[in-house]
Amino acid sequence: MDEAFAATFGLDPALGREGLNLEQVIATVHPEDREGLLRAIDGAIARGGAYAHEYRVRRRDGRYYWIEANGRVDHAPDGTPLAFPGVLLDVEARRAALSALRDREERLRELADNITQFAWTADPSGAVQWHNRRWSDYTGLTPEEGLGWSWTGVLPPGQAPRVLAKLRRAFEQGEAWEDTFALRGRNGEDRWFLSRAVPIRDGQGQIVRWFGTHTDVTEQREAEAQLRDLNASLERRVAARTAELERANAELQRSNTELERFAYITSHDLQEPIRTVASFTELLGRRYGEHLDDRGQRYLDLIVGGTARMKALVDDLLTYSRLSGDARPLQPVNLQAPLTEALARLSSRLEETGARVTAGELGTVLGDGPQLAQVFQNLLSNAMKFTRPGVPPEVRVSAERVGGEWHVRVADNGIGIEKPYLERIFVLFQRLHTRDRYEGTGLGLGICQKIVERHGGRIWVESTPGVGSTFHFTLPAAP
Ligand code: ADP
Repeated sequence: MDEAFAATFGLDPALGREGLNLEQVIATVHPEDREGLLRAIDGAIARGGAYAHEYRVRRRDGRYYWIEANGRVDHAPDGTPLAFPGVLLDVEARRAALSALRDREERLRELADNITQFAWTADPSGAVQWHNRRWSDYTGLTPEEGLGWSWTGVLPPGQAPRVLAKLRRAFEQGEAWEDTFALRGRNGEDRWFLSRAVPIRDGQGQIVRWFGTHTDVTEQREAEAQLRDLNASLERRVAARTAELERANAELQRSNTELERFAYITSHDLQEPIRTVASFTELLGRRYGEHLDDRGQRYLDLIVGGTARMKALVDDLLTYSRLSGDARPLQPVNLQAPLTEALARLSSRLEETGARVTAGELGTVLGDGPQLAQVFQNLLSNAMKFTRPGVPPEVRVSAERVGGEWHVRVADNGIGIEKPYLERIFVLFQRLHTRDRYEGTGLGLGICQKIVERHGGRIWVESTPGVGSTFHFTLPAAP
């Protein structure tokens, strides 16, 4: 035995100087390794040739260290073994590294087995070398059965060609792979997985291995499918509801048209008998008035008044029911024209009341001239009607361009309207006063609203009771 070696290992340098004393050697060997060592020596002697064996020896500090004995046994021609030349290597560090490596591998394997995903590694060609336990649990394949390409047996037959073609392409091109497909479980049921693989490269960029995972996305897919179903059913319901609304709208439209037609026919046909009553009442008054006593004369006056009101009502109804039927296509109209027309029709009322109407610069709108004249006429005639005693009516008409619309204002200095009634006055036949205070049919503003809305505009009123009212409406500006 080499002295340096003996010193390093704390062995007795005398050991083996005069041939190997087996007992002395064995005494320094770890009790657990002795039997193995003896067997190895016997084997080497019997077999001859090279040998190598690892075992622990005790050093002077009393601790055991791993060494590796290497050497060869040569036999004399008669078969007796000759002395075996050999070396002892200190393999303690290698042993420690190996055991640390095993520990680490064990921990990694434990980790790989316990993650919720399936994990696998494959050689550079794509042949699988290892699957984690979750994979085996799911597929029912033993760790050996899933190796190489045999794992592809759990791809449902319908998808296998597509999935494999894409996977092989990734392996050939050395590019990361991602796909979603089903894998058949041991119970014969398919679940869906999002699968990924990445190449692991060495320092030179050569692929040494592939690492891949399969993540179960069945629940997400089901949730997504449910969401899609829900959306689809929602859309169907919305569509059904829309169709229902459209039907209801069409029905409403039809009944509106019918009502308008009814109002039109009724008011039109009533004109003739009213005219007859009016003219014969007048005739009666002229021819036989002197023969009537006071009471007869009063009755006659009541008939004349009633007939006049009936005529006004029927005329307004006729105007209202004609609005849709008589509608002309909208065209550029300078608002000055319908205003002038309205003032002309109201000339005698203007004179009677001493009203002062002023107008600013009015714009050009897209409208129906005669209908717009009707709007001005109704608003101006109300302004002259709902006046404060002793205050001559003053009306200001103005217009302002706002975006694609003209905003028109008709402001008066009349009695004004209490807040709760501001919206109600546009409703047909809604009046705030009795007939003996202010004449009227309650249709004027309804007619205005219908015309403005037909133009795509809005109408509303602002008012201060006792000061005056301002009627606002919008109309589309002419392009
Ligand atoms: P009518 O004028 O025939 O009564 P309208 O539809 O034109 O019918 O008007 C409805 C009601 O609105 C009127 O009865 C009146 O009470 C109120 N009104 C309309 N215009 C004015 C106004 N300029 N000032 C005050 N009140 C008004």
